[in-house]
Amino acid sequence: MNKISKTFIIGLLPMALLACGNSNKKANSEAADSNALGAEKEIQVEIPAFDADSAYHYIDKQVSFGPRVPNTKAHQACADYLTSQLEAFGAVVFRQDFDAIAYDGTILKSSNIIGAYNPESKRRIALFAHWDTRPWADNDPNPKNHHNPVLGANDGGSGVGVLLEVARQINIKQPALGIDIILFDAEDYGSPTFYKGVQREDHWCLGSQYWSRVPHVPNYTARFGILLDMVGGKDATFYQEGYSLYFAKKLTKKVWNKAHQLGYNKYFIDQEGGTIVDDHLFVNKITNIKTIDIIPYFPNNEQSSFGDVWHTVNDDMEHISKETLKAVGQTVLAVIYEEK
Ligand SMILES: [Zn+2]
Repeated sequence: MNKISKTFIIGLLPMALLACGNSNKKANSEAADSNALGAEKEIQVEIPAFDADSAYHYIDKQVSFGPRVPNTKAHQACADYLTSQLEAFGAVVFRQDFDAIAYDGTILKSSNIIGAYNPESKRRIALFAHWDTRPWADNDPNPKNHHNPVLGANDGGSGVGVLLEVARQINIKQPALGIDIILFDAEDYGSPTFYKGVQREDHWCLGSQYWSRVPHVPNYTARFGILLDMVGGKDATFYQEGYSLYFAKKLTKKVWNKAHQLGYNKYFIDQEGGTIVDDHLFVNKITNIKTIDIIPYFPNNEQSSFGDVWHTVNDDMEHISKETLKAVGQTVLAVIYEEK
């Protein structure tokens, strides 16, 4: 497997768009997203300190339910937990229950869970993560584990854990814009590697596809969106993902610059990674909300370009790093509190 195609694997599909997609469309996307973000200025605002212990605790709590695979009791219990936690943090909570149809026709009882702050404001930022976990550890080095579920401390749990801590901070002190914390379901039910049928990118990200077509409030829009996926791995390196650069280059640069300003250069790498089929792709394609993905890329990892434990039975709390959670969480807080 070569370097480029490795880049494309995610709980998501091999894609072959990187080389052709970017060059001639860059100018358009750049021009388009410069308006949405407004002028770049240094604004003095007090930014809350992100508490990584707290985010870690919210991940641990999700993991304590077991794998959060749709149509299981653990999944239902976790949905209730996330709903009540967002309510406890003062959000107006929307629970969007829907039937998703999986690649093999299975009906997945799914729920997108949305916590809205300052819902009357027209100026909004959307923060996304997926909260479901993968039913199959189909990238485990031991093939015997391929039919066992992933615990999903990092893949699922980490993005949600960071956003719950962001919610807790917003409840203490509101930023200038309205914030929506949007937790997608059924991201990781894409056809397993052992599936013999056709693999399609829209087998993945069923919750974000649904929400993008049927948002939780009619005509919903936001100034921009940030998706967090697998943001808790040890020594994670976040390269600038290809679709993020394609759809929202200015926002990508702004977030990476902010991370560097805060001293997180070790995590936020000022280089382009590959394109990844993830929830942000469907948000970008279906809605007008320019959305980036903060997702790790390990260019030299033989096991997976998403890291050693990706889609294995070892995606557990032992492999979660508070330092990585802090780097991502503090960067997101700075971006949303500095937005006017
Ligand atoms: Zn996954």
